[in-house]
Amino acid sequence: MTSEELWDAALGELELELSKANFTTWLKGTFILKYQDSNVVVGVPNAFTKDWLEKKYHHPIVKALRHISDEDVKTVTYAVSGKTTQAKKIPTEEKTKQPEKPSEQKIVNKIRDYKINTNNVLKKTGVNLTLNPKYTFENFVVGKKNELAHAACMAIAEKPGLVYSPLFIFGGVGLGKTHLMQAVGNRVKEKSADKKILYVTCETFTNEYIRSVGEGRASQFKEKFRSVDILLVDDVQFLAGKEGTAEEFFHTFNHLHQQNKQVIVTSDRPPRAIPTLEQRLVSRFEGGMIVDVNTPDLETRIAILKTKCAAGGYNLNAEILQFIASNVQNNVRELEGALNRVIANQQLTKKEPTLESVKELLASYSETPKRGAITTKKILSTVADFFDISVPDISGDSRKKELVVPRQIAMYLMREEINSSFPNIGQELGGRDHTTAMHACQKISKLVEGDEKMHDDINLIKQRLYN
Ligand code: ADP
Ligand code: MG
Repeated sequence: MTSEELWDAALGELELELSKANFTTWLKGTFILKYQDSNVVVGVPNAFTKDWLEKKYHHPIVKALRHISDEDVKTVTYAVSGKTTQAKKIPTEEKTKQPEKPSEQKIVNKIRDYKINTNNVLKKTGVNLTLNPKYTFENFVVGKKNELAHAACMAIAEKPGLVYSPLFIFGGVGLGKTHLMQAVGNRVKEKSADKKILYVTCETFTNEYIRSVGEGRASQFKEKFRSVDILLVDDVQFLAGKEGTAEEFFHTFNHLHQQNKQVIVTSDRPPRAIPTLEQRLVSRFEGGMIVDVNTPDLETRIAILKTKCAAGGYNLNAEILQFIASNVQNNVRELEGALNRVIANQQLTKKEPTLESVKELLASYSETPKRGAITTKKILSTVADFFDISVPDISGDSRKKELVVPRQIAMYLMREEINSSFPNIGQELGGRDHTTAMHACQKISKLVEGDEKMHDDINLIKQRLYN
C-alpha cells in the first residue's frame, strides 16, 4: 500500500467519525509526508492545524492508520509542510459579474434601503444592538490568508457552542476579524431568532463592568453577560493590565463554557503575546481554537474589490481594480478606503475614472515607502511639526488636549509604521505605562476609521513622514 492509498483510506474512516466541519477544517490539505519503519509523518499546511491535530484528533488518526495498515503503523507525528494536496480556490466566479452602472437615484435609494434595513434589524434584535448587519459570510471573500478563520467561523455558526469554544481570532488591523465574528452572530440570528447574541468590544465590556461595580449592580452585569448563547468580545488584547475586568471575563467565560455556550474573541496578537494577561486566561484561550488572519494576497485583494463593487453597484474596469489592489497592500480596510475614494471622486466629478486619474488620486498609496528610514525620532518631530508644538511637549506631562491628541497620534504611528512594542512606545513618550500606549493606539485607530478629520490628518502626517 502506498502512503497515498493509506492516507486516503484513513481519511475515509475519519470522515465518518468527525463532523463535516471538523473534517474539512482540519484534514483538508493534509497528506503523508513520510511513512518509514512503521512511523508516519503527516504533513499539514500550518502550525494551527498541527496543534489541533495533535491535541484533538491524534487518537482517531492513529486508530484509523493502525486499522488500515493492519497494525503496522506505530507512531504518528505531524509536520508543517509547504506542499499541500489541494489549494483552495477563491470563489471569484460569481463575484466578477459587473453590475450595470446605477443612476444617482439608485444610489440614493440603495443607501435609504440600507438604512431602513439596518434600523429594523437593530430594533428586532434587542440585546445585540451593536451587531452590524453588513458583516455577513455572503460578502466575506475567502482567500488563503483567512480561510482557516473563515472555516472555523462557519463551523461555529452551524453548531454554536459545540465545536470550538472559545474561538480566538488574531491578526493585524483591518483584516476581517470583526467582520468574521459578527458574521457568526448574524448567521445564527438569521437561523434562530431566539438565540441571545451579544457583541461587545473589550472596551465596552470593561466600561460596563467598572460602571456596574461603581453603581453597586455588578450582579446585573453578571446576569447580562452570563445569560447569552453567544458572546463575541472584540479586541481582547485590551484586557491586558485590567485585572478586575480580566477576572470578571474569566468567570464569565467559565460560566458560558460550562453550559456549552459559544465564546469568540479577537485580538491583534496571539494569547501568549498579550502582555500581562493572566496565565489562566491565556490557558483558557489556548484551550480552544486559535486561528489567524493575515494580509490578503493580490488575487484575494482583487476579489475583495470586485465584491465591494458588486455590492455597491459600482462599475470599475479590471485595469483600475488591478491598480488599486496592487498598490494598497496592507489590509482590507485601506483597500476599501482607496476604493471609496475613487468612487466618491467619480460621483463628485461625474467623470468615469481612468487609470491615470486613479493613479493621481491614490498617489499617496503608490509611493513605495522606505520603511527602514522611519524612526521614533522622525515620527516625534514630524508630529510635533504638524501640530506646531515642540518634541518635549509631546512626551511631557501636560494633559492639555492640544498636546494629548498629538501624543496619542505619535504613539499610534510608532505602532503602525515601525511596529514598536507598547512598552517601548510608553518608554519613548515620557516613560508612560504600556497600557497608556495601547489605549492611545486603539483610540486613534478608531478615530481614523470614524472621523474624517483624523483620517486626513494621519494621512497627511504619513505623507510627510515618507517624503
Ligand atoms: P479587523 O477587525 O480585523 O480590524 P474588520 O473586520 O473591521 O477588521 O475589517 C475591516 C474592513 O474590511 C471591514 O469593512 C470588512 O468588512 C472588510 N473586510 C475585511 N476582510 C474582508 C474580506 N475577506 N472580504 C470582504 N471584506 C473584508
Ligand atoms: Mg476589529
